[in-house]
Amino acid sequence: MTNSEFLKQANLINGDWVQSDAGSSFDVTNPANGDVIGNVPKSGAAETRRAIESAEAAFIEFRQTTANQRAVWLRKMHDVMLDNQDELAKLLTMEQGKPHAEAFGEIGIGAAYLLWFAEEARRVYGEIVPSPWKDKKILVNKYPVGVVAAITPWNFPSSMLARKIGPAIAAGCTSVVKPASQTPYSALAWGVIAEKAGLPAGVINIVTGSASEIGGEITSNPSVKKLTFTGSTAVGKVLIKQSAENVKKVSMELGGNAPFIVFDDADIDRAVTGAIAAKYRNSGQTCVCTNRFFIQSGVYDQFIEKFTKAVTALKVGNGVDDGVQQGPLIDIHAVEKIEELLADAKSSGATLVTGGNRHALGGSFYEPTIVTDVQSEMRIAREEIFGPVSAVIKFQSEPEVISMANDTEYGLACYCYTKDLGRAFRMTEQLQYGLVGINEGIITTPEAPFGGMKESGLGSEGGSNGIDEYLNTQYSCIGGLERS
Ligand code: ADP
Repeated sequence: MTNSEFLKQANLINGDWVQSDAGSSFDVTNPANGDVIGNVPKSGAAETRRAIESAEAAFIEFRQTTANQRAVWLRKMHDVMLDNQDELAKLLTMEQGKPHAEAFGEIGIGAAYLLWFAEEARRVYGEIVPSPWKDKKILVNKYPVGVVAAITPWNFPSSMLARKIGPAIAAGCTSVVKPASQTPYSALAWGVIAEKAGLPAGVINIVTGSASEIGGEITSNPSVKKLTFTGSTAVGKVLIKQSAENVKKVSMELGGNAPFIVFDDADIDRAVTGAIAAKYRNSGQTCVCTNRFFIQSGVYDQFIEKFTKAVTALKVGNGVDDGVQQGPLIDIHAVEKIEELLADAKSSGATLVTGGNRHALGGSFYEPTIVTDVQSEMRIAREEIFGPVSAVIKFQSEPEVISMANDTEYGLACYCYTKDLGRAFRMTEQLQYGLVGINEGIITTPEAPFGGMKESGLGSEGGSNGIDEYLNTQYSCIGGLERS
């Protein structure tokens, strides 16, 4: 794997693969076994500034390319990804830990986002608006915003970039990318994908290194016109504040506290299948992962019994091994966070049903876990768990569960299982979340807008309006058109 042409140990600035100015680097490890995969440049403000200058220079010509040409580049990038799906998935598993099947799926959905935006690129329509004046016409045009900076997390190190680079290219923007230090390789691989697709130098620039230095340069540099960020709400708030200084456009995909509600009238087997997918995928490390299970009293025992059976059957191991369903957590800090939340819950009266320990495989492996008798005020129900731990709360009535589900500053994803059509629509209307799964545990797709309400974010990725985040709207009034 370390011979892969997609594994780059350098930053991409203006089409050149370069080291940091000081020649410093940092190690990247495989979370499944602690092996050092390699090392990548520890870049800072100076390298980031050059990456921004490169993107700015490239923008001059790139903005004038036709939508059709940009769609061709995006389709070529899509093809490169699918032609190398297995290799890119292996790279992803090696640095991130997720099972190969999930990594393979992530590369696939990343490619699907590119295709979607290749199609959307050609539909950036303006408008001619009926004018209130006889002698003037009203035109509305859309233009690329300019240089876009993208800061991405380690949980979906490839597809999160597809959702940012895809619309940026489609709109005619150039980018500077900063991936998470735990998983830089899947992001650096985007440089190779772009090269293979023939994208001009400078359209995508990638820097790795100090988050605060790179983030500081990105937000303070007035040449960056837009920041798109996926990560924690805490860091998102810092970046919004920093971006206020020169009024950048921002879009933010931040944390969640997803409720998963199962009513007495639900199909319980379907709910269990959805619960496994919505909780244990990526070892529970996604912003749309269930954080709180609300189970109605009439089906509570039945659900817990079936859910426990399914959870204890999950195969934990190195993501490269056949049949593995849960890999390691990203690092030992993630394990320590879970331990802290579980200790707090247990000391406040929660009951451990299964799991609750570091896994026998060692390192950052953790047992698939369920705790019941959780109360809404416990830390485990208020903070993002980001691990393979299900926290279960019993409820009695629909109004009660709506109130509990909405009692959080977050508003990203929620899930609800019921066979009652009226209730399904009532829940959709009442739940203050940007993404609602009714009888479905995994709902992300390029065709639909992905974005949170409340402190879960600003703007949306994908869908028919995803490209708008990368465009400025301009109204022009054409006067002096007197009729003779
Ligand atoms: P997580 O908890 O998932 O690691 P973070 O919000 O800490 O989420 O990280 C998401 C991304 O934001 C990563 O690429 C990380 O390096 C970056 N990041 C963290 N702190 C800052 C900062 N102060 N400025 C800019 N980027 C940051």
